[in-house]
Amino acid sequence: MGPRLGVLGWPVRHSRSPAIQNAALAAVGLAEWRYQLLPVPPILFSETVRALPGAGFRGANVTIPHKEAALALADDATASARAIGAANTLTFDRDGAIHADNTDAPGLIATLPFDAAGRSALVLGAGGSARAAVWALLEAGTREVRVWNRSPERARALCAELGGIPVLDAEPADLLVHCTSSGLDTSRPMFNSLPLGADDVTKYKCVVDLVYTKWDTPLVSAARANAIPTVDGLEMLIAQGALSFERFTGEPAPTELMRAAVRRG
Ligand code: NDP
Repeated sequence: MGPRLGVLGWPVRHSRSPAIQNAALAAVGLAEWRYQLLPVPPILFSETVRALPGAGFRGANVTIPHKEAALALADDATASARAIGAANTLTFDRDGAIHADNTDAPGLIATLPFDAAGRSALVLGAGGSARAAVWALLEAGTREVRVWNRSPERARALCAELGGIPVLDAEPADLLVHCTSSGLDTSRPMFNSLPLGADDVTKYKCVVDLVYTKWDTPLVSAARANAIPTVDGLEMLIAQGALSFERFTGEPAPTELMRAAVRRG
């Protein structure tokens, strides 16, 4: 059996990571490697992750709801993962030591169609991915990062810790970065739970939506209909996944091939 990789989540069956990571492994000649779903409930997270190196795993991506627990159990972590308070990438040494990193932050910056330095941004959300976005934008030199959240006290706490300005309305900005779970449940109208409507997308020069579903989210559709440069959740998935792949394997990620694999569905 060759080396193993996987994505830890609960639930995780919707994840497109196996499709893009297995396509990338095959493309760089790591044919014996396999990347698999790792559905693990929170109560079993720590002991399961500690067992993975001994079972032949070299690393794992981490998704909802384990990103904070992943950082907490790691033997060491990058400065960015520590500052964000969450890890989405774990790598394992042969002796079982666990290293934590966060590729959501550099992944977001890599997807932007312009340099974030000196720009303004509005981040919607105050959960794990919003923390990564705010940290990444401030590190990239974004002049003003405003943060809106359904529960305003969480936005205030995030800004007190990481920087940024908590806001109660969707103010215009160069960049809109959507980091709430709104839109994941396609049976519910997305804009009802956000502080803006479809017509408001014209107040932004670029719209990033981290949520991905089978079809374009209403936010992505509205931005595309108004010819606003748009980064959808799949682009973000590819960007963070490419960086994780490089950490797992030491090989440059075949990004175009990963994009083709994920867009094929
Ligand atoms: P968290 O659970 O940490 O945070 C959830 C956020 O969504 C909170 O701000 C919460 O607000 C808000 N929220 C939840 N439900 C609603 C609602 N009905 N209306 C308005 N706000 C709501 O999740 P993450 O930050 O980890 O992930 C957020 C989304 O981003 C998910 O859909 C996830 O799949 C996606 N994502 C995509 C990535 C990619 O690669 N494309 C990478 C990372 C995340 P409150 O504080 O008020 O509860």
